[in-house]
Amino acid sequence: MEDNDLGNSLLSRIGGVGDGGCYDFVDVVPRCRYLGRHTAEDIETGSNGGFDCAQKYEGIPEPYRVLYLTECGQGGFGITPNNDPSPYDDYGNPIGQGGGGNTIPILVDNPVTIPIVPRAILSPADIIECTKVTDFINDPANDDFKQELIDLASEANLSLDFEKGIAKYENTVGVSNFQGTNASPKVEITIGVNKFKAMGHNHPDTSIPSLPTFSPGDLIGVAKAIRLNKLDTTSFVLFVATKQGTQYAITINDPVKFLDFFFFATFNSVTDVGDFAEYQRYNNSKDVFTPLFDEYFNPKETPKITPTTPNEDAVREFLNFMNAADAGFTLFETDESFNTYTKVDLNNNGVVVRLPPCQN
Ligand SMILES: [Zn+2]
Repeated sequence: MEDNDLGNSLLSRIGGVGDGGCYDFVDVVPRCRYLGRHTAEDIETGSNGGFDCAQKYEGIPEPYRVLYLTECGQGGFGITPNNDPSPYDDYGNPIGQGGGGNTIPILVDNPVTIPIVPRAILSPADIIECTKVTDFINDPANDDFKQELIDLASEANLSLDFEKGIAKYENTVGVSNFQGTNASPKVEITIGVNKFKAMGHNHPDTSIPSLPTFSPGDLIGVAKAIRLNKLDTTSFVLFVATKQGTQYAITINDPVKFLDFFFFATFNSVTDVGDFAEYQRYNNSKDVFTPLFDEYFNPKETPKITPTTPNEDAVREFLNFMNAADAGFTLFETDESFNTYTKVDLNNNGVVVRLPPCQN
């Protein structure tokens, strides 16, 4: 860990200091382990048996590190250059300040361990994404869509040999229904005249086994609608219910990133690409999408997410995929009744974290 990172981390934990404070470190090698009984002066002068202490314990020093806050010099944050005299002596005592002054010593264990604190509250950005979902699902005008979502998640529909899907379009009453066939189980949802408000579909146990998460194809469909200006990302929600017993929703928090990532896959052929800028976007997308698709989803490789991946492993890997892709979308877990929406995320240790549910 860089000293600046350590300093920032510690300063943030001290509180009330904030960015812009200045600090320095001193590595302290005590000669006497009984520092509580012998002052630095004792050890230096031999008073109160200080020399014995120094002799007895010399050779087995346990270095530790002191962080202290100091007045900012020129250049704001900075670590004192090595050749600067430290304001602390080898025993950790401040020099010439009688143990006080305007510095605050903080003893830090060596090796330094910084605990990872999982984020437990929704950020303002999370709340924006939450509100897209709750505004849609709680709107009485969408009660029919919600009921059809519940139906998609029913055992009867998840036992079919083909997928079913639904769509709600802007300025349109009612829900549009789609379904695959035994021969071609995957559902195709039609891009209509009006923009999508929401889409939902299920992943039953078909002849082509389907995933316990969204599939790349699901996300590519959304990206294509964005490219064709058939979807308002400030409100759109995508839902899925799976045979494996999971239900998820996705919102788009950054449509440019989202389309950048999936761009190439939204074309049937490179010959459909328009101008040179689009061609560059197509190639950039292909370069970042392809290795991640292979790693996480490609059934011809050994992907991290398969139809038989246990649900918790699958959602963790899906979140790893989201982090690697940085494709600007947010994942929520929900229940079979599609009532409660919980953002799922990874903490710094790669552990799946459920944030507090979205408030209605
Ligand atoms: Zn799907």
